[in-house]
Amino acid sequence: MPEKIPDPSTWTGNAILDALPEASRVRIAEVSERRHLELGAILYDVGDRLTHTFFPTRGVVSQLTPLADGSLAESSTIGRESCVGPTSILMDPLSRRRFEVRVAGEALAITIEDLHGVIGSDFSARNVFMREAQASLHTALQLAVCNRVHSTRQRLARWLLEAQDRTGSGPFMLKQATLADSLGVRRATVSEICSAFAAEGAIAYSRGRMRIDGRDVLLAAACECYRAIAAAAPATATCASESNDVDGETLRHQDHSSRNNVQPSR
Ligand SMILES: [Zn+2]
Repeated sequence: MPEKIPDPSTWTGNAILDALPEASRVRIAEVSERRHLELGAILYDVGDRLTHTFFPTRGVVSQLTPLADGSLAESSTIGRESCVGPTSILMDPLSRRRFEVRVAGEALAITIEDLHGVIGSDFSARNVFMREAQASLHTALQLAVCNRVHSTRQRLARWLLEAQDRTGSGPFMLKQATLADSLGVRRATVSEICSAFAAEGAIAYSRGRMRIDGRDVLLAAACECYRAIAAAAPATATCASESNDVDGETLRHQDHSSRNNVQPSR
């Protein structure tokens, strides 16, 4: 029997959803809402009740872990290779971290009940989420090493490459202060490294607008963690390779409903 060819019009732009069996993907598209991820929006704060799972199709969401002194430190970033919120595998009713939009974009939001309703009986779909959980754990372990042994320049290059993978080839808004916060370093350090990258032709940066001109320069500057994280998630690698060719405005988005572009739920 010939293999069924997936219908590209049902692709969402999120790697997890696009790895699901077509029937589940179409069903999720029907019951989800497209949300605009506004810069600085908090999808969940520490202690919030989790109601939806967000599947970014563009943009960067920072996962911030609270510390005893009241500050928050970035533990990882999430984009279209992953999701924010519970899946059928990881059920926790309250958020233990803050999820804040660092680079604006879009996401498909689905209630937890609807998500479980769609994938609960779909063994292949559950496998996709299990692989995602495995990839997330690998990423967390890799970043633990990264933060300990790699230089700020290496980590900043990695952060920018990941941001480009998640936003497409066009420019995106990113304050240097945000980048400094994400990397846990002083803003002056970020400014110094960005100036060096600009001089090397890697980036063009003006008034919070970041454009990556020399991806090869950043690839040479980034630590091994960039490739190690991408390699652990086959779906992510697909996204990364596409991002060089696909502009953020022309992603394989399907216009699901007139409810698109509403603001985040809180
Ligand atoms: Zn690293």
